[in-house]
Amino acid sequence: MSKRKAAKWGSVVLSAALAAGILSACGAAGASDEKNQEVKAPAGGETAAAPSPFAADSIQATVEQKDGKNVVTNPDSIHVVANKQRYLPEGYAPSDLVVPKVEFSFGGTEEKSHLRKEAASALEQLFAAAEEEDIKLYAVSGYRSYTRQKAIYANNVATRGEAETAKVSAAPGTSEHQTGLAMDVSALSVNNLLEQSFGETEEGRWLADHAQEYGFIVHYLKGKEAVTGYTYEPWHIRYVGKELAAAVHASGLSLEEYLDESNLKGGS
Ligand SMILES: [Zn+2]
Repeated sequence: MSKRKAAKWGSVVLSAALAAGILSACGAAGASDEKNQEVKAPAGGETAAAPSPFAADSIQATVEQKDGKNVVTNPDSIHVVANKQRYLPEGYAPSDLVVPKVEFSFGGTEEKSHLRKEAASALEQLFAAAEEEDIKLYAVSGYRSYTRQKAIYANNVATRGEAETAKVSAAPGTSEHQTGLAMDVSALSVNNLLEQSFGETEEGRWLADHAQEYGFIVHYLKGKEAVTGYTYEPWHIRYVGKELAAAVHASGLSLEEYLDESNLKGGS
């Protein structure tokens, strides 16, 4: 894409991100929720080259206004983009959740053990490939339901009050973990914690280099905070399928930028 387009888009998302607050995407207490943050697409420019295979999944083509919110229209797509400005439909839950056969950082099976079937199978392959290179990864937190996020939110309101909750807790419907396509991953070298130092470990570097080969992206990259609205999270991987993962990884863009209509049309 052109620098001009990138700058234009960047400034739009930056103001939205700053208004919404850039916070952790994974915590139960997460982002504040500034309603009605309509992130406008940059005006289209030059005519397109070849149409992108992801054109139908552009962030502009997959959202509708509902009760004053931007609600995604493709919650079941592996290419869905859900964030503080793009709600999943109220009560949305994937229908194909399973528990991937990988090592977890905790015992027993919980809601957070789950991923959608396709993502779970890809995670198994990713972890197996890591293990072949003596890299031991642990799954820490996957699916989080609308109901659970809602309960966490309500509990925060009860203990902190409405105003404080709005600042620290993610509204139900805005977490990528609700799609069943995101897993937080860590390693014993950082005591299986979800912290930025994971990115500097052997395991974190391996994950950043190889996740895309199995259909995952490290979604919240360093330097992309203004675009994604989230701080750098080297532990948070998101399944998007091999084709899109490879394309996003090669582009150096965030998922949000890559799936922007102007970039899909413009190519580079
Ligand atoms: Zn996460």
